Amino acid sequence: MIAAAAEVRTLRFYVNGRWEEAAGRSLHPIYNPATGETIAQVPYATAEDIDRVARAAHAAFLKWREVPVVERVQVFYRYKALLEKHADEVARILTTENGKTIEDARGSVRRAIQMVEVCCGMPSLIMGYSLDNVAKGIDCQTIRQPLGVCAGITPFNFPAMVPMWMYPFAIACGNSFILKPSEKAPLTPTRTAELLDEAGLPPGVYNLVQGDKATVDALIQHPLVRAISFVGSSPVAKYVYETAAAQGKRVQALGGAKNHLVVMPDANLEKSVEAIMGSAFGAAGERCLAGSVLVAVGEVAEPLLNLLLEKTRRLRVGDGLAPETEMGPLVTGDHRKRVVGYIDKGVAEGAKPLCDGRKLMDERQDGFFVGPTIFDHVRPDMTIAREEIFGPVLSVVRVKSLDEAINLVNSSRFGNTTSIFTNDGKAAREFAQRIEVGMVGVNIGVAAPMAFFPFSGWKNSFFGDLHAHGRDAISFYTEQKVVMSRWF
Ligand code: NAD
Repeated sequence: MIAAAAEVRTLRFYVNGRWEEAAGRSLHPIYNPATGETIAQVPYATAEDIDRVARAAHAAFLKWREVPVVERVQVFYRYKALLEKHADEVARILTTENGKTIEDARGSVRRAIQMVEVCCGMPSLIMGYSLDNVAKGIDCQTIRQPLGVCAGITPFNFPAMVPMWMYPFAIACGNSFILKPSEKAPLTPTRTAELLDEAGLPPGVYNLVQGDKATVDALIQHPLVRAISFVGSSPVAKYVYETAAAQGKRVQALGGAKNHLVVMPDANLEKSVEAIMGSAFGAAGERCLAGSVLVAVGEVAEPLLNLLLEKTRRLRVGDGLAPETEMGPLVTGDHRKRVVGYIDKGVAEGAKPLCDGRKLMDERQDGFFVGPTIFDHVRPDMTIAREEIFGPVLSVVRVKSLDEAINLVNSSRFGNTTSIFTNDGKAAREFAQRIEVGMVGVNIGVAAPMAFFPFSGWKNSFFGDLHAHGRDAISFYTEQKVVMSRWF
């Protein structure tokens, strides 16, 4: 269905401080996932566009790197104030194109603002260190200098927050930046770019283009682009990492996930179930930190599943903008097909659906809805236990001991996040020590590190060395130089 013509806007690129009509480029629909209506059209940038943007960004970089960091961060103080003022508006745009609940969208905008807050501290964060008299009369100091043009390629699920893992850090470090957000959710990054424009960055320091694989390839191939920050699915992360590294670029590529939530027999069931529901069904499972496999240890399985099922059946699914909604739709019809394909496969491979989200599709013809789904008696070798589904599907694997749970988690190809629910400090400590996963929660459903810590996936969930945000981001977006001096 297409919304009334006047409402279907065509997005623009933001290049060298100006909004450009992208006439003549191919146009692609953006949907409101709660209604299925087309709400906007997005043009895809060509290789010629990327060349033009990269040149403008490079020219801007040569001036921007000369601006003292104390002055550079003033833009981010203004940006923070503008984001605060428009936070609710940005969250509503986000829900309208992504589907997640408005409360969840507000939370993610808050996380985005926190990135900007951290970047306001760049004068302290970017400092080097020094030692005088390393040899007689010789002093040594390290300094950090920006790289040049940096590019960011981001996914649909956090269209405000994930881009801000990148450009505030890169720009406050003295780089210029080109953002290529998800072609499924470009409205939110467009609004946040308008606010950055209002905050008053010099032209060309921040640029926004839209597109898909061809646009990404043009960014990777462009000789003026020095560094690529990528967040998305694992196969694309690996591809971007390998191709950009082969071009001599610095790369950080964050990938997909398959996250386990381990529940011990001594866990506080009421609180654990609340956290598990938020983790598995929050944002309709479209989070890289979503709990996807519930590992029930020993005799906890029956009481845990009883309570979980009771609460899941009461979960209110609907339009994310409605205040009573607890879970929204999936982002597109194609993505819903993929998620339903996984549910079909779970049934075919012999797992037992305690609660089948496909039924909701008979009731709701509008939008891209699928209900929460729980599979019991899932074996670790089943597809639904191994692959990222990125939908509201929770697979329950029953194990006998903590040891078995740890081995199960460690056998995954992914290593983004995992949580243990227990009242036993020794079990929690052993879990945190032995688990081969980058972000670990203890009695926490979504262990998302805040802006001043790194976002630390392992294995196929991350390709590179320096992670997103935290101190890693400053290292990623700068080159280190060591200066030794002697004066006669
Ligand atoms: P995606 O991989 O389909 O797309 C991500 C970006 O890559 C988009 O900008 C897209 O245009 C581009 N892209 C897509 N295919 C490409 C190709 N073949 N070559 C080059 N570029 C390509 O991911 P998505 O569906 O937008 O987002 C969901 C995925 O992102 C999930 O796998 C999720 O786990 C992951 N994710 C990871 C993190 C993390 O921090 N590790 C955070 C958020 C999302």
